[in-house]
Amino acid sequence: METVIVWFRRDLRLHDNAAWTAAAKTGKPVVPVYIHSEDEENVPQQDSPCGWWLHHALEDLASNLAKDGISLALLKGNPVDCFKNLLKEFNVTGVYWNRCFEPSQVDKEKAVSDLLSRLGIPANESNSSLMVEPEKILNNQGKPFKVYTAFARAWSSRPMAAPSKGIRPSSGGKVPGGMNLETLGLLSGRDGGTSRLSEYYKPTRAGALSALESFLSGPISSYNRDRDIPAIDGTSRLSPYLHWGQIGPREIYAKVARQPVSTGSKKFISELAWREFAYYILHHFPHTVESPFRPEFEKFPWSGAGPQLEAWKAGKTGFPLVDAGMRQLSETGYVHNRVRMLVASFLVKHLMISWRTGAEYFMRRLIDADLANNTLGWQWVAGCGVDAAPYFRIFNPVLQGKKFDKKAEYIRRHVPELQHVPDSYVHEPWTMPDAVQKQAKCVIGTDYPEPVCGLMEGRIRALSAWKSFNEPQQQNWSLNL
Ligand code: FAD
Repeated sequence: METVIVWFRRDLRLHDNAAWTAAAKTGKPVVPVYIHSEDEENVPQQDSPCGWWLHHALEDLASNLAKDGISLALLKGNPVDCFKNLLKEFNVTGVYWNRCFEPSQVDKEKAVSDLLSRLGIPANESNSSLMVEPEKILNNQGKPFKVYTAFARAWSSRPMAAPSKGIRPSSGGKVPGGMNLETLGLLSGRDGGTSRLSEYYKPTRAGALSALESFLSGPISSYNRDRDIPAIDGTSRLSPYLHWGQIGPREIYAKVARQPVSTGSKKFISELAWREFAYYILHHFPHTVESPFRPEFEKFPWSGAGPQLEAWKAGKTGFPLVDAGMRQLSETGYVHNRVRMLVASFLVKHLMISWRTGAEYFMRRLIDADLANNTLGWQWVAGCGVDAAPYFRIFNPVLQGKKFDKKAEYIRRHVPELQHVPDSYVHEPWTMPDAVQKQAKCVIGTDYPEPVCGLMEGRIRALSAWKSFNEPQQQNWSLNL
């Protein structure tokens, strides 16, 4: 019996999935497969929040397929070897997938394509994770844009494809040797830090639709303001769903476009455009995964890891908003975007620890770990990325707290030691007189840490390092203090 295969990766949905629809349209029975290969730099590790999410997303996809009598084959290993076995078992007349943009995934696509082409089997590639594929947006010289605003202008002038409807194919049968989900080992590590995550998340397609609906039914209209206030649930929380493709940007865009236009909805679309920009940069400049986009930053005098790095990871730096963000990360796998910027800036500037160390840590700990967005985010903050904030623009954790978490609601939610610290001291608890510390049950150095570095001292050290490294390009940096 002639059969077609659909290779699922970052597109774990049946609706608006171009590869799935194209395979179904052949009218031939379909065999869906997911191949878990552990040799990639960006594959979720055992017991990471991202691995926990993948486990449940696969479970959900398998259960949605089962409703149509189709079995999802879970395989482990190198995709080329897995495909060689599949091609022995089935009379395959075509393989369908949606392209990915992470360099290691691109290599795998190429290797599978080469195998199929040697065997004369058509490989059919579609796009379901971006609104516009990166090759389609170039400047007048035919080169990629390096500035977000120019990219976003070109991106928004493109026709946006509507989501496609799902079609039900028939089942091509079970794959011999397919594994059960538990054997992928995404949950079974020794240091199981993921058991609480089900309190916070619904990692299913239904969860994605409900997150989108609740965002569209209220928060979107004030998104432009509320997205900066970490104590408010003012953002969509769609990032892990988008990462695994349980919902696609076309569906989100189409639903937003059906709503009345507001400043909030415009801002939200511009954040989706940032995501597209991150993938665009990853596609055109894949070396940025390892190296800064601005190569001169290779010579930046980063400090080594040490107790300050451990204090940052543990949320014990003595700076309340930084600590709240890092504890939100440990507890839930998520950090609010405003706070992501702050904790990243604190690491690379006040502590002068390389953006790579921070980016790797985020990739292990984030529920929405995404190579494109994470690399862009870290390089943006560190000043070494494309269209990045300049290195000399250094977030002050105290002022950020006073501005974006005025009443310290977010801080107190995640740092219980500061629960009874009066508002006037909560952003700088080390300034509390002894009597107030006792009264607030927060003795600095005992109940809550002393700051790991002096604010001004850290700032001056970072600026001098930047100045000495950047001497030839000096541009009035002191004016920006
Ligand atoms: P919303 O505000 O509701 O935005 C909607 C969607 O737009 C998001 O789900 C996301 O897909 C996209 N988006 C929003 N902001 C950005 C942005 N600045 N850059 C790119 N895309 C964006 N995002 C990740 O998805 N994975 C990461 O690993 C990641 N790492 C980051 C690291 C740093 C240092 C920084 C500063 C940002 C990082 N971001 C990352 C971007 C951003 O913080 C998250 O996408 C956002 O907080 C997710 O919450 P949300 O879904 O409620 O976002």
